[in-house]
Amino acid sequence: MSTAPLQVQFGSDNQAGICPEALAALQDANRGHAIAYGRDEWTARAEEAIRRAFDADAEVHLVFTGTAANALALASICRSTDAVVCHEMAHVNVDECGGPEFMTGGAKVLTVAGEHAKVTLQAFAPRAASPHDEHASRPRALSLTQATELGTVYTPAEMRALCDAAHERFLKVHVDGARFANAVASLGCQPADIAQRAGADVLVLGGTKNGLPAGEALVFFDRALADEFRRRRKQAGQLASKMRFLAAPWVAVLESGAWLTHAAHANAMAQRLAGRLAGIPGVSLFAPVQANGVFAHLPKAAIDALRARGWHFYVFVGETGCRFMCAWDTTAEAVDRFAADLREACERHV
Ligand SMILES: *Cc1c(COP(=O)(O)O)cnc(C)c1O
Repeated sequence: MSTAPLQVQFGSDNQAGICPEALAALQDANRGHAIAYGRDEWTARAEEAIRRAFDADAEVHLVFTGTAANALALASICRSTDAVVCHEMAHVNVDECGGPEFMTGGAKVLTVAGEHAKVTLQAFAPRAASPHDEHASRPRALSLTQATELGTVYTPAEMRALCDAAHERFLKVHVDGARFANAVASLGCQPADIAQRAGADVLVLGGTKNGLPAGEALVFFDRALADEFRRRRKQAGQLASKMRFLAAPWVAVLESGAWLTHAAHANAMAQRLAGRLAGIPGVSLFAPVQANGVFAHLPKAAIDALRARGWHFYVFVGETGCRFMCAWDTTAEAVDRFAADLREACERHV
């Protein structure tokens, strides 16, 4: 088997490997026996580290995937007769195979449009209006993605306004934070500023895309929502028996601050890539670069040429809207090589 490193790609931040801090923590946790099902010391430390990072007395639970975390979080808010309001591009709407509907037992996902994958007050308000009779599902949760599916971020003030509007209408707020660290690093704010201080009731804090081997943390700022969560996690097959191996990487990246330095690095690589793409004929960004993704329309021939050169990435919007994600380990050299290949392909084909 070859041990040569694999080429950096721009397909997704979950194509990257495990960051060194997390890998060392796995090694360290792998000594002898520990109590199973989360009653071990690493799990307690991870939960405490998350509470400290947010300066909140939150209830914290670890699960394997973001899809499960989102669906379980929404199921902690919604009954089967309720509805979730989210952006039409939201992961919970288009990338979870009906997981939220399934885990809530039938809650309806109601979508809104909005520029750059962001929910606006104007779009949210009419969607959240209660129908007042039994023919329609009752909006009960607002789900916001931070950073968004188009690599943009909500400012603390934007989040606060949306959360206030939700709470006024008796909706709870769920934040899909698969790339929460990228948003914090981008805004230069405290984690709490775009979480409970902005009004979030439950946050899914992403680890996988930020260098963990696997795992997301559910952070219940509204502790009442966590009622029976442990049983619902078990029922969903998301209770890890060897929980210490989910938890130890969290301890390592949180206690060292690596979760934010890795995210800042990924963001910086996206900025570098955006800078390299500026001025290439036929290339146009279709979202501002505020986190670790660059979204650009490319000439179709250039897409084919890049793929023929071994680059992997997704066409995300229509036939030419491409997504380029940077990760904790994306190198400046890879960004520059990719941009040079793109420039050459575009100059040849435009
Ligand atoms: C990746 C991602 C998730 C989590 O996906 P899983 O593959 O289930 O871990 C959730 N939300 C967003 C916005 C994502 O990009």
